[in-house]
Amino acid sequence: MKLTDSHGRTINYLRLSVTDRCNMRCCYCMPAEGVMLKEHDAILSYEELLLIAETAIGIGVEKVRITGGEPLVRAGIVPFLERLSAIPGLRHLALTTNGLKLAEMAEDLYRAGLQRLNVSLDSLNPATFADITRGGDLAKVLAGLDAAEAAGFPPPKLNVVIMAGINDGEIIDFAEMTRRRGNSIRFIEYMPVVKEEGWQRYSVAGDDIISRIAARYPLEPLDKGPYAGPSRDFRIPGAAGSIGIITAISGHFCSDCNRIRVTATGQAKGCLFSDQRSDLLPSLRPPSRHKLEAELRKIISGKPERHGITGDTYQHQNFTMAQIGG
Ligand code: SAM
Ligand code: SF4
Repeated sequence: MKLTDSHGRTINYLRLSVTDRCNMRCCYCMPAEGVMLKEHDAILSYEELLLIAETAIGIGVEKVRITGGEPLVRAGIVPFLERLSAIPGLRHLALTTNGLKLAEMAEDLYRAGLQRLNVSLDSLNPATFADITRGGDLAKVLAGLDAAEAAGFPPPKLNVVIMAGINDGEIIDFAEMTRRRGNSIRFIEYMPVVKEEGWQRYSVAGDDIISRIAARYPLEPLDKGPYAGPSRDFRIPGAAGSIGIITAISGHFCSDCNRIRVTATGQAKGCLFSDQRSDLLPSLRPPSRHKLEAELRKIISGKPERHGITGDTYQHQNFTMAQIGG
C-alpha cells in the first residue's frame, strides 16, 4: 500500500528519535553546555515507540531509522531493536549513531536485527574531530566502524557535515574511503540549527563538494533506490561505496522528501524546518492505535511542499538536531 502526501511524494520512511540525550556536543548540533533535557516521563517509553512504528508500518511506512540524541546511550536499546525488527511489514531497519559506543555494542545490534548503520564522522583528523565534537575521541569511532563490519554489518554509511575552513579540506580523503574501505559517504550541507550569526560563512554547497571530487576522480551518477530520499548519489568507478550530497540549503532537496519524523517526546513532524507538528501523546496515553493512525495521516497530508530555511522570513526553530534526530 503506497502512502503519498498531498504533493504526490511517496512517504515510506519514518525517523524515530529514542532520546534527546547525547554523549557528544557537536558544534553544529547543540550549544557547548548541551540542551535542556526533558524529564524522564516526557520521553516516550519503548512500548510507545513500538506502537508508533507499528502504526506507521501499518499505513505504508517500510523503512524506520532510529536516531536521537545518541540512540546508543539509551538503556534497553538492544531489546527494543529486537522487537522493532520483528514487526511484520518492516523492510529496512537502520540506526544513526555517533559511533562512540559502537565498538562495544556492534555484535548485539547486529543480533537484534538491525540491518544498517549510519555513523556521523566529520573529520579523519583526531584534533579536528575533537574540536567539532567538543571532545569526541576519533579512535573510538574508527574502532566502532571496524567492529560493525566484524559483526556482519555492511560498511557503515558515513554522514559528514562539511563546514568551510573546518573540514572542507578533507572532502577528497572521505571520497577516497569509498574506494579504500567501501564506506558510502553522505556529505551534508551545514544547516543553521544552532542560533549562530553569520552561519553562511561555513556553507559549502553540495555542487561545490561534487566539483571538488570530480576534479580529482571521474564520477558516475547513480539511480536512486526507493528509500533514498533527498540525497543525490555518485560513484567513483570501481569503488564499493557511493558518494552522496544532501543539499538542504542549496536546493534540489524537498521534492524527493519521503519521510516523517517523530521526536523522543512524541512530536510528529512532516518537515525538519517547519513549525507544523502534531503531538502524538494524547494518542499514546492512553494508547489508541486508531487515533495515532489519524494523527500520522494528518502530518503526512500536511507535509509542506518545501522548507523555507534559506528565505528572508525564516525564523530559527526552537529545537536542536539532537532533539529532533537530524
Ligand atoms: N547522535 C547521532 C549522530 O550524530 O549520528 C544521531 C543524531 S544526529 C542529530 C543525526 C545527524 O544530524 C548527524 O549525522 C548529524 O551530523 C546531523 N546534524 C546535526 N546537526 C546538523 C546541522 N546543523 N547541519 C547538518 N547536519 C546536522
Ligand atoms: Fe550528539 Fe549526534 Fe548531535 Fe553530535 S550530531 S551532538 S553526536 S546528537
